[in-house]
Amino acid sequence: MTDLTRLTAAALADAFAAREVSAVEATQAHLDRIAAVDSDVHAFLHVDVDGALATARAVDDARAGGTAVHPLAGVPIAVKDLLATNGLPTTCGSKILQGWIPPYDATVVARLKVAGLPILGKTNMDEFAMGSSTEHSAYGPTRNPWDLGRIPGGSGGGSAAAVAAYETPLAVGTDTGGSIRQPGAVTGTVGVKPTYGGVSRYGLVALASSLDQAGPVTRTVLDAALLHQLIGGHDPLDSTSIDSPVPAVVEATRRADVSGMRIGVIAELGGEGYQPGVRARFDDVVALLSKAGADVVEVSCPSFDYALAAYYLILPSEASSNLAKFDAMRYGLRVAPDGVEVPSAEEVMSASRAAGFGDEVKRRIILGTYALSSGYYDAYYGSAQKVRTLIARDFDAAFEEVDVLVSPTAPTTAFRFGDKLDDPLAMYLNDIATIPANLAGVPGLSVPSGLADEDGLPVGVQLLAPALAEDRLYNVAAAIEAMLAEQWGGPLLAQAPELEVRT
Ligand code: GLN
Repeated sequence: MTDLTRLTAAALADAFAAREVSAVEATQAHLDRIAAVDSDVHAFLHVDVDGALATARAVDDARAGGTAVHPLAGVPIAVKDLLATNGLPTTCGSKILQGWIPPYDATVVARLKVAGLPILGKTNMDEFAMGSSTEHSAYGPTRNPWDLGRIPGGSGGGSAAAVAAYETPLAVGTDTGGSIRQPGAVTGTVGVKPTYGGVSRYGLVALASSLDQAGPVTRTVLDAALLHQLIGGHDPLDSTSIDSPVPAVVEATRRADVSGMRIGVIAELGGEGYQPGVRARFDDVVALLSKAGADVVEVSCPSFDYALAAYYLILPSEASSNLAKFDAMRYGLRVAPDGVEVPSAEEVMSASRAAGFGDEVKRRIILGTYALSSGYYDAYYGSAQKVRTLIARDFDAAFEEVDVLVSPTAPTTAFRFGDKLDDPLAMYLNDIATIPANLAGVPGLSVPSGLADEDGLPVGVQLLAPALAEDRLYNVAAAIEAMLAEQWGGPLLAQAPELEVRT
């Protein structure tokens, strides 16, 4: 019998429809895989064996009884531990939320449940989604299935590693500055940051509300489109949700034709600071796109040079305000201050926040509070907002000339644990190419582009399109995926070493 964990979500859906496989069999296969490899990979913070199997059973019963179900019903999925899940722990990778069980579902989670996707569990992440390696998780890092001595990217390294390690065919991530796309690039998986407002933020624990966006993490472009279609669309519970239909991403994926498309290589992204193997694989993809009939030109987006600096003022400012709610009064960790017999509320808050937040979170709260303080607001936060406008204008100008922009997704392949942990700036630079899309609210997609010669590790190419033009991203990504599969004789992930199975 085929190993069900190797099937894509689309293939599983077909197998269910043909009555060849049951949802319980598929879910059990993935739970077994998690039991066999996750002690090494550590993609999951929480696995919900009973809940996942109960959903699968209900789907099988519905199908057996002739009830119409969603095509993806029964396809297992993992959810980043930043989305609220009713009855299941939600920690955001932080000690401050240890033991918190939300009393409600994020809209994305609710949509998965209505469609009957068994939720396998919650995936690891950098604390409150701050980081590029999962090393900032309070519960220990996730390991990259390509090399267990290396990081899986971050903050959503758990979701990406779970998909790359065949623990789940689908996962949901969130991307505030690159946390879906950069993990995708360094694990050889597909990651999509939808248009801001395209997928509901209701029930996402906010990092930076003007930048956060949930999206698909998968092994194929088609699977990403199927998941995008399901979780996207208007939500009255999110005041920034866009009231328009989800772009036709599944149809676009099936088209996979770039002939006549205008594709712009971003001049500012891909030069100095990018590993040679990253650049080489990027150049290969650009050459393939030209050969397939795309009209490739170079486009300059001069303000992108300031994107990282602007982001590290806007994000900490919003984060410092969003994280103020973790005050030990209503939920989460509460710590009694040392040596105080009857502590004041302020003393409890202070002791709890000191014990509950990690170093990176504290660094950003301090930075954000400073940037927003009176006397500094205009110089820091205000200037950063102006840069943000310039970046949006660069995108507007570029999209007058081209349909899609391309760049490498991340400047390097997966690095070793500890390599960047003591150097915040080096960590921040991982998102140099992904951040502009968050600042402007436009959609971005990372698709595998090959292996770097120097270390044999996966590399990704990033595609960017105007707001609500995700169909262009899926069309181009599907074309790239098909052309590269022809070269490699199959999916890139097939090149990854087999993980040791522990019983
Ligand atoms: N790595 C970036 C940061 O630390 C992006 C985070 C994210 O997208 N959640 O802010």
